[in-house]
Amino acid sequence: MRKKIVAGNWKMNTTISEGELLVNQILTLKKESQPEAELIVAPPFTHLATISKLLQGSGVALSSQNCADELSGAYTGEVSASMLNAVGCEYVILGHSERREYYGETSAKLVKKVKLSLANNLTPIFCIGEKLEEREANKHFEVVEEQIKEVLFGLDPEDFAKIVIAYEPVWAIGTGKTATSAQAQEIHKYIREVLAGKFGELAQNTPILYGGSCKPSNAAEIFAQPDVDGGLIGGASLVAADFIAIAKAF
Ligand code: PEP
Repeated sequence: MRKKIVAGNWKMNTTISEGELLVNQILTLKKESQPEAELIVAPPFTHLATISKLLQGSGVALSSQNCADELSGAYTGEVSASMLNAVGCEYVILGHSERREYYGETSAKLVKKVKLSLANNLTPIFCIGEKLEEREANKHFEVVEEQIKEVLFGLDPEDFAKIVIAYEPVWAIGTGKTATSAQAQEIHKYIREVLAGKFGELAQNTPILYGGSCKPSNAAEIFAQPDVDGGLIGGASLVAADFIAIAKAF
């Protein structure tokens, strides 16, 4: 049985007090409804220390939205994997399309970030996904395959076994457009085949999350697909009731 995961990517939203309120609401609703999926929240860096304390003993895991591609030193403005581990993060989102698009996140940088994360006991939630023009040109399979090969194929099997993947078609992120459940299943299955081609049976245990305008009204259908193991949720993770409703959609 693969792990079911619902992770909330808050992006650059909420002040610290808004973030505390949101997390407290999530914890209250979680207690009431006991969703089966593992829940993860990924607030901004400034909130991590405070939210880490609120999450203690709750069963909700903490993630950052990025980490540095160096371990320490003269890298002004960066936050390292070891700092994130020390503050209580268990996960780190890496390669989100917004980072690839706006901050020059290349596969070469992501190789370093994935390795540093793993070496510091953080589980990477490694994001992949094609742009609209790539989907329209029917290139989505080759795009995700390349993103996977460039970053994950250099891992040894022991490290690969810890990876979580998030398939997020760029045309569906924050746009209100969602992949159909058939589109999600088709490409998640393909991703698993690509992983299995390199890592064999281990790929059967890799959680592959869907991300892109996932909300309470469409989560159940998407999560019902055999190769979809949960969701990476942006906008809807900022409303506690929606986030929990998505987590209950399995
Ligand atoms: C995301 O940014 O990871 C995401 C899936 O965003 P949204 O749910 O808002 O489309």
